[in-house]
Amino acid sequence: MKKFANNFFLFSLLIVAACHKDSDPTSSNVNIVPANFLSNTNYDKLVIEVQYMTGAQPSSAAVNNLTSFLQDRLNKTAGISIVQTTIASAGKATYSVSDVTAIENTSRTQKTSGKTLTAYILFVDGDYSDNGTDTKVLGITYGTTSMVIFEKTIQGFSGGLSKPSAATLETSVTQHEFGHVLGLVDRGTPLTSSHLDTAHDKHCTDKNCLMYYLAETSGSIAGIMNGSMTGLTQSCIDDLRGNGGK
Ligand SMILES: [Zn+2]
Ligand SMILES: [Zn+2]
Repeated sequence: MKKFANNFFLFSLLIVAACHKDSDPTSSNVNIVPANFLSNTNYDKLVIEVQYMTGAQPSSAAVNNLTSFLQDRLNKTAGISIVQTTIASAGKATYSVSDVTAIENTSRTQKTSGKTLTAYILFVDGDYSDNGTDTKVLGITYGTTSMVIFEKTIQGFSGGLSKPSAATLETSVTQHEFGHVLGLVDRGTPLTSSHLDTAHDKHCTDKNCLMYYLAETSGSIAGIMNGSMTGLTQSCIDDLRGNGGK
């Protein structure tokens, strides 16, 4: 159990360590804001491109869970769909945000146009280039519509009796990163209550929330093992509703 606790600590620390950077490499998305995802006003359809390098494909369970998560929160009368595409490995052990940005610029196929909004999630077959010695980044939101997931790192932290499954980690990380794209917490979606963790930029103070920066109690470990930590709690849901979501 102690081993699991250590692993869980790293996972928790990691999904927050560098998970939001504000820039957007895709010029067509430069004017996209969180409300565009949440409301039906300007865009009534969302297409998410999940692009993965060979060997870094996410589980179908995680992809389905992301779709359900978004259908619960976004007003998109023409639907939400996920398109999976594959690309060759870039052949690197580690990837920086600039590496990922360059890959997106040459490989992303889905672009926002008309009433169709798009997002991009790249699954790479390496680790983050700026990992610390004790913590590893599992995902980063690096643009207004762009996220990267370090699938190799996830696979290293998953499987076996004392670790969560890859699908569980993929689900938590993709939903957490998409939470940042949706403007959480105070990242483009205004606060409707006081739950911004000011010590840990753009995260939620609620330790049971998907957007919590770090879960470090035994109660939280029990939570992720039974799946209860994979969802947003009410304060974050209220923020999304206040900015056009449901
Ligand atoms: Zn985060
Ligand atoms: Zn929250």
